[in-house]
Amino acid sequence: MAGVVVITGPSGVGKGTLIRELLRRIPTLQLAVSATTRAPRPGERAGVDYHFLTPEEFERGVAAGDFVEHATYSGRRYGTLRSEVQRRRGEGVPVVLEIEVQGARQVREAVPGALAVFIAPPSHEALRERLTARGTDDPEQIEQRLRTAESELQARPEFAHVVVNDRLQVAADELAGIVRGALSGDRYPEGPPTEDDQP
Ligand code: ADP
Ligand code: 5GP
Repeated sequence: MAGVVVITGPSGVGKGTLIRELLRRIPTLQLAVSATTRAPRPGERAGVDYHFLTPEEFERGVAAGDFVEHATYSGRRYGTLRSEVQRRRGEGVPVVLEIEVQGARQVREAVPGALAVFIAPPSHEALRERLTARGTDDPEQIEQRLRTAESELQARPEFAHVVVNDRLQVAADELAGIVRGALSGDRYPEGPPTEDDQP
């Protein structure tokens, strides 16, 4: 599985919340911190929630080939830095990416064997309610994110693994099961050892 887990789906569906649950269930997983040109929200910390870059810094990184993938979302740039992924893969540490759909497509191309899971909302209304309840985006941003979600939801059939985030703990258990299955395949790329195998 190449040790790379991509969690994608529309904004507000619960990707970040599910990843927090996933990291509790599979403590060996580490989250890659993304880069963005959007402004920090209250409480967000540089280097922890995001690497906050100026548009110039971001485009310099793109030109230098520093990104595994990058995309424009709601007028801002977002991307996964190679440094966040390569170091951990070199150490055999599985890494999880929380990214929107355009980026997920790029990772599928760039990292053969990456596991990609699409998180779907139980309904369109739930998505609106969650974006509103989160309280991080103004009404105009919420409408823009919901418009983008319409096209993102159409990408669902592209993904072999889909988890509907209705009840959080149920969805988190399902997601952890998918990720554990893929990671155990990594450990034994030719199947688990049998009693006949010599050390
Ligand atoms: P994303 O990372 O996909 O943008 P978040 O993880 O920030 O989404 O979740 C958006 C909002 O929805 C948050 O306020 C979060 O607490 C809430 N939320 C997440 N999962 C659920 C769920 N299964 N049921 C109800 N609310 C949820
Ligand atoms: P937010 O502004 O809510 O933090 O993120 C907006 C969207 O960008 C979300 O769907 C989020 O998953 C996505 N995103 C966050 N980091 C990355 C990244 O590194 N690459 C891409 N392609 N999308 C990202």
